[in-house]
Amino acid sequence: MPRYCEVAVPVPLRTTFTYAVPESLNGEPLIGRRVIVPFGKRAIVGVGLAESENPPNGARVKEIAELMDPLPALPPKLIELGHWISRYYVAPVGEAFRAMLPPEIELRQDRAYSITDAGRSCLRELAAAEERTDEERAEFELLCKFDNADSSVSSARLRRHPGVEALAGKLIRRGCLTASELLRRRKSRTQKIVAWKLGPVEARGFNPAESGPASSGVLTPEASAAEGLRDAQEDSILGGRSFSSDIPARLSKGASAPDARIHEVLTSERGPLPLNLLLEKARVSRAVIQRLEKAGLLQTWEEPITPGEDPWDTDFTPPANVLNSEQKAALEEIWRWILAGEFSSALLHGVTGSGKTEVYLGAIEAALSRGKTAIVLVPEIALTLWVGRLVRARFGDRVAVLHSGLPDIERAREWWRVRRGEASIVVGTRSAVFAPLENLGLIIVDEEQESSYKQEEAPRYNGRDTAVYRARLEGAVALLGSATPSLETFHNARAGKYKLLKLTSRVENRPLAEVRIVDLREEFRRQHRAAPISESLRAAIALRLEEKTQAMVLINRRGYSWSLLCRSCGAVVQCRNCSIALTYHKSRERLECHYCGYSIRPPKQCPKCRAEYMYFVGDGAERVDEYLRQQFPHAKVARLDRDTVRTKRQYQQILGAFAKGEVDILVGTQMVAKGHDFQRVTLVGVAAADLALGRPDFRAAERTFQLLTQVAGRAGRGELAGEVLVETYYPEHYAIELAAQQDYESFYEKEAHFRRMLHYPPFTALASVLVRDRKVENAVRWSRALGTCFVPFEKQGVKILGPAPAPLARLKRDYRFQFVLKSPQRAALGKALASALDFCAAKEIPANAVIVDVDPTSLF
Ligand code: ADP
Ligand code: ZN
Repeated sequence: MPRYCEVAVPVPLRTTFTYAVPESLNGEPLIGRRVIVPFGKRAIVGVGLAESENPPNGARVKEIAELMDPLPALPPKLIELGHWISRYYVAPVGEAFRAMLPPEIELRQDRAYSITDAGRSCLRELAAAEERTDEERAEFELLCKFDNADSSVSSARLRRHPGVEALAGKLIRRGCLTASELLRRRKSRTQKIVAWKLGPVEARGFNPAESGPASSGVLTPEASAAEGLRDAQEDSILGGRSFSSDIPARLSKGASAPDARIHEVLTSERGPLPLNLLLEKARVSRAVIQRLEKAGLLQTWEEPITPGEDPWDTDFTPPANVLNSEQKAALEEIWRWILAGEFSSALLHGVTGSGKTEVYLGAIEAALSRGKTAIVLVPEIALTLWVGRLVRARFGDRVAVLHSGLPDIERAREWWRVRRGEASIVVGTRSAVFAPLENLGLIIVDEEQESSYKQEEAPRYNGRDTAVYRARLEGAVALLGSATPSLETFHNARAGKYKLLKLTSRVENRPLAEVRIVDLREEFRRQHRAAPISESLRAAIALRLEEKTQAMVLINRRGYSWSLLCRSCGAVVQCRNCSIALTYHKSRERLECHYCGYSIRPPKQCPKCRAEYMYFVGDGAERVDEYLRQQFPHAKVARLDRDTVRTKRQYQQILGAFAKGEVDILVGTQMVAKGHDFQRVTLVGVAAADLALGRPDFRAAERTFQLLTQVAGRAGRGELAGEVLVETYYPEHYAIELAAQQDYESFYEKEAHFRRMLHYPPFTALASVLVRDRKVENAVRWSRALGTCFVPFEKQGVKILGPAPAPLARLKRDYRFQFVLKSPQRAALGKALASALDFCAAKEIPANAVIVDVDPTSLF
């Protein structure tokens, strides 16, 4: 009986593809399995979704080429979830499923080249030519190589010689070579491990025979290979202890400093280490290692790559908190739901510093006690460090961490560890909502209001809403936590759709920080000059420096100046590719576009009118940083934004230094506002608090309120009381006033009132459709056509606004037009969107020219 399989492949089409199952795969179940299939001229990785015995009519069916893993990558519930994502977000099936699969580390893309007949005749001509240019000589040599090769040549081989791949590309365009795309399996990658050899001196009093490799942690190459990946990693940590001893006689006499450092690191500090880590820890060069290896002092071997050790985790003792009555009451409720073993969703609404994390930990314990698994979602990679560390301290190596900042190889390994059931708790960012855990009992979404839960590329899902849906599918508990819940979530809690748990006070009854509003209009009247921060804030910081406590300053704009303005004609220097002002970065002496990366030297003359009155407007984080250093030359100032922090390590360094009290003032963008728990911060200043209010977006007030409340929550978390200064030109705006009072419910009432009147979420379902193209004529024509396609849906209760130029009318050289669709009935909205995409396919409007965003986090 011939078999067929529906495969989801990662292409932007709203359909699966049917493949024939070759006989070699007889008896293999295919659902949820990753398969390699031919697609056009390529081979790509898809996932099997359904099997059938009926051939599709008409089209010729290709065969599945290969099965990738022995185990289905996706368990059945995740397949259901993938279909839901594709339906709800009107996303291409294959792209929805690609978001759920592990990185394809076992494969690499490759190209195979071979010579054509035209190439052979070109070769003959070149061979006969009297004279050859340099270029012709290079072509001749390359064609000779291909002619002599008995099979095709891979691009990996070409890449070894600089420039040759480009030349091959040229020969393909001339028809002398052909190329086909290949997927190849990668050999597993290894790294060199270095250990201090047990010399006779060190081995004394230590008998390997007594304590076998597994128990004692003696790490020999043989043992580590036999123990496999995970155990080898544990061993290498244990190994340090049994290797340790005093510096051996050979070394202590006349040993050079680098040698002693290596010995120190490999014996008393750490144990056997990967070469790179050792070089860094012992601050030595490769040559030193080689010399010691030759001298027989070091031993090395290859081992599969294991995750880089996280220095963040070492020496960490979690606080031993005794739960207060509110925390206990919340946990008791959660235990009840978990024991009931069925779906429920709840909002944990707790003010900043109320100890939500302890409740999360208790909830995980509840789930584990029932033999279930748990996912903890956090809004940022950085927070996986803080939260991951707490969870690991409590639950040990049953914890896996998944986020997109991990190198593919580490992410794949963690992913499969979860899939095989070796981890039962996953801490991660957005995409960890797809963690392949089975028997899920709990999903926690921390800071559920964060817009980072929304993926801004296809599939455009919201991790929080997906978490709630997944909990429903799995009969699990979804726990959404926040001090400033999104309007949607609080609305659901009010309506009884979500249960509501409250933590109304800070732990140990610490008071919330006092918030003072600084009216910048008045400041200006008094001071008659505009400094990057107000005099009130400057004085408050000075006080903290005297007291020797810490201060944080939030300025939610990167760079030195927001823009460069011509005072003669009023023009602002804009990006060449986007309709947005360029930001001035002083350290690099560039004007930069934060959207597309375009940058130029700041012009001396106005590009429009040639006048020479160019003027920098608006102060960003770089300027505030500089100003603080000038004002407080003896203070230690550090800055945390995407210009100073490019890697996880830099992030840890800055925050670590601040936590240890080595930094007095921390300046930064919203990166400083999130979740951190510093005990000695007694002042938080917010410069330009109303920045976000200027955005033409329905969430502007909500975002402002959330950011201010969050950052205010960073002050006074320890024994010392905190104060917050909020600088603004609109002190009477309700978002600012109510944030100052830290009064969430009043803010909700007020904002909900506007949303209801203006038909915005949570009172209507919202979607945006963006049409974009390099050519403005195309963008106009296609959006007009789409407009006609939407017309019939107006009768079905879908309100359609547009097409109109998008607020960012040009982005990365594309012209953009926007529709906004609203409907009280989600089903009607979904139908309109699906039929719009079908319409585009029928009219041959390119799939990537139309972006559908269901439940957009912003219309900007
Ligand atoms: P939130 O996320 O609600 O802002 P956290 O969970 O970060 O608050 O907790 C704030 C601080 O309070 C942390 O330092 C935490 O260790 C501490 N904490 C939590 N629960 C208690 C408790 N019951 N007693 C004392 N301190 C606590
Ligand atoms: Zn740009």
